[in-house]
Amino acid sequence: MKVIEIDLDTLAHNYSALKKRIGENVKFLGVVKADAYGHGSVQISRLLQDLGADYLAVSSIDEAIELRKNDITMPILILGHTPREQVSRLIEYNITQAVTCKAKALEYSEEAVKANGTLKIHIKVDTGMSRLGYLCDNDFFENGVDGICHGCSLPGLYAEGIFTHFAVSDEAGDQNAEYTKHQFKLFCDVINEVENKLGHKFEIKHCANTGAVAKYPETWLDMVRPGLLLYGYGEFADELGLKPVMTLKTTVSTIKIYPAGTAISYGGIFKTTDTTRIGVVPYGYADGFFRCLSNKYSLMTKEGPACIRGKICMDMCMIDLTGKPSVDVGSEVEIFGKKNSINKMAQMAQTIPYELTCAVSKRVPRFYIKDNKIVEKELLLRG
Ligand SMILES: *Cc1c(COP(=O)(O)O)cnc(C)c1O
Repeated sequence: MKVIEIDLDTLAHNYSALKKRIGENVKFLGVVKADAYGHGSVQISRLLQDLGADYLAVSSIDEAIELRKNDITMPILILGHTPREQVSRLIEYNITQAVTCKAKALEYSEEAVKANGTLKIHIKVDTGMSRLGYLCDNDFFENGVDGICHGCSLPGLYAEGIFTHFAVSDEAGDQNAEYTKHQFKLFCDVINEVENKLGHKFEIKHCANTGAVAKYPETWLDMVRPGLLLYGYGEFADELGLKPVMTLKTTVSTIKIYPAGTAISYGGIFKTTDTTRIGVVPYGYADGFFRCLSNKYSLMTKEGPACIRGKICMDMCMIDLTGKPSVDVGSEVEIFGKKNSINKMAQMAQTIPYELTCAVSKRVPRFYIKDNKIVEKELLLRG
């Protein structure tokens, strides 16, 4: 047995805590790209819609239309590119599209005009992330502002919003704070210049991701745009009293006792030095367990952490249950969740919690929990 438990009450708690933090006048966009960071975008979006969130963001038109087909009627912003052939579908499904450069603006405009419709857009400004967006720093300022004004004036497009993305708002240190402040100032300067030139204001200006929601209130503007924080991971979640929404669990399937000198698993990298009680759990790298955690990471049992022994296999791994007599076949162990912090696991795997929740394989069933009861089960394997 293995299962992802998604605690919808915890998500609601995190949402309310964040709403309280940002106040009445700031809108809330929930980032639900990549299947809501592995939590299930349909279920998470439904709850956010019920809770009164203002906007959702996804990375592609496929992700957006999946939500529309599952009764999500609230505004949805696509952060990535959409192929020009799909623009009529964006309009049909009432989906907002990020516009990141002149060439895309022209494409979107042409297609919207052809479809006799208006595409709602948010202009993306590159203030230092160096990924998507109109480049506006230093020598590029005037050119960037002109490009944005051009995009806003094209037929078939309605520029409802403008946004930028921070590169280091979640990193500690003065240099990162300065960098973030520079990005924010540049964003404000671009907005002022564009609004002056156009003679009207954008309805929604937004830039605050997780790091900025936690650390830079001055950047909240009209709307915040957190992902990780909403799901309750990372150091800021701990500081703000937010809790992890996902718990990943499995059960012990077999236990054996080996004498000293026994090699465990592929490659024999771990050898017992004493009589050792080893449990096998059905969770391996095909489920999303990173092999680099072999022989290092611990799963949480009711008698404390049990260290992984030897290499993690495709479908299972072995844990040391020596001295934990009450942990038996069928006992539950937590891979990560409320008792076994994903932050520690991420550190050990030299990555970030984002990668770990996204990496859990679709063959692990997802159970949705409300009032301590399972309200929905989902298995994403082809039926
Ligand atoms: C993913 C993403 C976010 C959310 O980032 P978090 O660090 O999870 O808060 C916000 N804005 C954009 C443009 C993104 O791509």
